[in-house]
Amino acid sequence: MTDQRITKDTADANMADYAATRAAFSWADAQARLAGLPGSHLNIAHEAIDRHVAAGHGTQIALRWIAKSGACTDYTYADLAHQTNRFANVLRARGLQPGDKVYGLLGRVPELYIAALGTLKAGCVFCPLFSAFGPEPIQARMQIGGANALITSTRLYKRKVAGIRDTVETLKEVFTIDGAASGTTELAPLMDAASDTFTTAQTDPEDPALLHFTSGTTGKPKGVVHVHQAVVAHDTTGRLALDLRPGDIYWCTADPGWVTGTSYGIIAPLTNRATMIVDEAEFDVSRWYDILSGESVNVWYTAPTAIRMLMKAGADAIGVRAFPDLRFMASVGEPLNPEAVIWGAETFGMPFHDNWWQTETGGIMIANYAAMDVKPGSMGKPLPGIEAGIVEVNGDDVVELTEPMAMGELALRPGWPSMMRGYLHEQARYEKCFKGGWYLSGDLAMRDADGYFWFVGRADDLIKSAGHLIGPFEVESALMEHDAVAEVGVIGLPDDTAGQIVKAYVALKPGHEPTEDLRLDLMGHARKRLGPAVAPKEIAFRQNLPKTRSSKIMRRLLKAREMGLPEGDISTLESDET
Ligand code: ATP
Ligand code: MG
Repeated sequence: MTDQRITKDTADANMADYAATRAAFSWADAQARLAGLPGSHLNIAHEAIDRHVAAGHGTQIALRWIAKSGACTDYTYADLAHQTNRFANVLRARGLQPGDKVYGLLGRVPELYIAALGTLKAGCVFCPLFSAFGPEPIQARMQIGGANALITSTRLYKRKVAGIRDTVETLKEVFTIDGAASGTTELAPLMDAASDTFTTAQTDPEDPALLHFTSGTTGKPKGVVHVHQAVVAHDTTGRLALDLRPGDIYWCTADPGWVTGTSYGIIAPLTNRATMIVDEAEFDVSRWYDILSGESVNVWYTAPTAIRMLMKAGADAIGVRAFPDLRFMASVGEPLNPEAVIWGAETFGMPFHDNWWQTETGGIMIANYAAMDVKPGSMGKPLPGIEAGIVEVNGDDVVELTEPMAMGELALRPGWPSMMRGYLHEQARYEKCFKGGWYLSGDLAMRDADGYFWFVGRADDLIKSAGHLIGPFEVESALMEHDAVAEVGVIGLPDDTAGQIVKAYVALKPGHEPTEDLRLDLMGHARKRLGPAVAPKEIAFRQNLPKTRSSKIMRRLLKAREMGLPEGDISTLESDET
């Protein structure tokens, strides 16, 4: 934790008066900003696209796609309306009915965006899969969700789906975007033949719209169901937490295979009538700076791992580029170390604004919004319409801890529009999330006297050492301050005397060697910052830390490997060089 504050000149920022905005806020008013469909119906795709076309904004660019080659293709809101209509017509023509599940297994290509929104228009449920998944995670997710159709490429189909297709009995149709493979239907001729008009399905706000699988950081991924009503939260939080304004150039770097890439990589920017930048390529320092600068990005939403990689490359990598149009930078997915927030302020003239949410919450719940002073290391404050608390759970009793900096489970009062409506086939587990009038997040946090929330760690990752409760984030952030450190994961290991001891796994920045001297230096730094009770007793160097494909450090895997325990579900594991 740090006492530092980054203050801002926010005279014209949204939520300049946080308390007043919260007091005046209602989800009904938030919904009234949207168009809706006749008879109290609501459809996400209508709010994202057709509403803007009807209001005369059809010629605005909705999506600028940057291919790996660097070539750009623009889609206006009118183009997206026509293409999504065609896709919805294709689904209908091939016999898919409202409520059927359409899966996407594609990289960041325009067809994915068109399919997602066209699926919603048709009243079907869209389920994105990360394109780097292997056959088994794909099979499991299609079986759990009961996939009825899949849109993919011939390459991905042959490598990952063909071998498991027969095991997914519900799967009727596989569309391929680049020709046909044996057993698939080529999409392009169907799109060409389809009408570009379509009457959007009159979906009920409570009709399922999206199926997302969690990141699998703590165990087997869960299938989370969201409904069309969620669009009210996407729209509101896009505006209030990400400061999106009509006409903004907006870049969300998350892949649509994850909830961030859908809620804030497709829906929120479109409902807020922004222009989305979609980059097909993977992370690359110089390419990213080119995009930020060359595309005149106004609002940038990214993640701690990417930020740490940019930090690792050093500010020199920016060269002569400038970012005069950049107005707001935000981060999600993992705790954002204070170092990274401050680096943002030094490098771009504004801090990264951390925000917190989960697949289950469907949208941002706690955020550093544009008008607030940023305390580096804090997740910010609950958004209007969201009541968050720190609670202690004892059996069926849930007690809110109101003392500043009391540590407990982060909980939310249910009732916001994008709250999950269920874990697929896991009703008991879903019900266990709700107790004493709260939704229990499984994360530990603290709230300070100013109402700022501070992430401590996942409940599973809390370390109990010699009577102290230690959150891995605090230890990781202290080590991140050291010049040599690029990335850290901290876990507790069983110990006869202390119960647990703190162990840190450190990946170094280029130019630093994993020497004994450096290890001692890091130990010394941590002791000075944290005190001997909290500082790690052991530090090990690693080339890389094991991460999920959505870039979260898998502490449970560090622990399992250290202790020689089974690795559990590793279907979402990405970099695995330890
Ligand atoms: P699983 O539930 O399968 O273990 P997961 O929890 O990582 O995976 P997600 O829903 O993608 O799946 O991630 C939500 C979690 O990510 C949060 O519960 C929290 O632990 C972490 N997280 C997200 N944003 C932040 C943040 N700003 N600061 C700290 N942690 C965050
Ligand atoms: Mg989770």
